[in-house]
Amino acid sequence: MKAPAFEYVRPQSLAEAVALLAQSSDEARVIAGGQTLLAMMNLRIAAPALLIDIARLPELAATTEDDDNVILGACITHAMIEDGQVPDPSRGLMPHAAAGLAYRAIRNRGTIAGSLALADPAAEWPAVLTALGAATSVCGPQSRRSLDCGQFATGIFETRLGEGEIIESVRIPKLSADARWGYIKLTRKSGEFANALAVAVADYRRGHVRVVLGAANGPPLILAEATRALAETERDPEALHAAAAADLDNATDRHFDDFQRNLHMIAAVRAMQQVIA
Ligand SMILES: Cc1cc2nc3c(=O)[nH]c(=O)nc-3n(C[C@H](O)[C@H](O)[C@H](O)COP(=O)(O)OP(=O)(O)OC[C@H]3O[C@@H](n4cnc5c(N)ncnc54)[C@H](O)[C@@H]3O)c2cc1C
Repeated sequence: MKAPAFEYVRPQSLAEAVALLAQSSDEARVIAGGQTLLAMMNLRIAAPALLIDIARLPELAATTEDDDNVILGACITHAMIEDGQVPDPSRGLMPHAAAGLAYRAIRNRGTIAGSLALADPAAEWPAVLTALGAATSVCGPQSRRSLDCGQFATGIFETRLGEGEIIESVRIPKLSADARWGYIKLTRKSGEFANALAVAVADYRRGHVRVVLGAANGPPLILAEATRALAETERDPEALHAAAAADLDNATDRHFDDFQRNLHMIAAVRAMQQVIA
């Protein structure tokens, strides 16, 4: 199928894009890499009357860093992260995750903020950025605000983005030199969405430890018990296993069947093992 007819506009600035979006209310959608939105339009799941193309806005391609953070513009692509074309605050975690995300053709155009805005539960960036303690900067008609990536998605394909708001950038704290991470994506075939996804980050020097599950029938799931266990100085493998099991027991709103639960356990435990190895 082909997409229904639509108007297309390419604004010259973020301010113009925000104004256009505000004027057009729910008739308009921004398009970044188009890797998901165009497929949805071709399948007639989405039918915006106006597409506002933000992919080439210089503000959204900018990358800055200070001593503590890297700030990636919203339209930085998965491939730019994979290829090291932007600074890596994560000591290899983000390039590693990017390299396993979809296929190269999709990575060439798909963007970090497009992935966050879509809030597909099985996507890489929501889980990875939650584990790293990142935050988005969101620009609306009246003001700017910051939203933690861990609280950005509110459900399956649902976010806290308000009417007329565009994600401008993502601020990612830099990991210390001796920080460790673990990353496990379980999928039937490389390039496909995850069946289970676990990210563990332990930056003991900065006091930041977090274990997160993606592909968990909802927004990224922070495993509180596993995080606590990994934060202990004596990181006993059996304690990590028991903690992850307790987290899955506590996640009563996620409705995992036995097979899914088993996959999530395997992913979480292996990611934590990578940290303590
Ligand atoms: C075959 C296939 C396999 C894939 N596999 C994976 C995978 O394994 N893992 C994975 O994570 N992803 C996967 N994807 C999705 C891919 O990563 C997309 O790049 C991503 O989901 C959306 O990014 P985009 O820039 O293309 O967004 P678009 O398609 O342009 O937009 C998606 C949505 O986000 C909104 N949006 C985009 N940018 C912004 C912004 N700055 N502010 C506010 N709203 C915005 C749009 O309005 C739209 O609603 C796959 C896609 C395909 C087609």
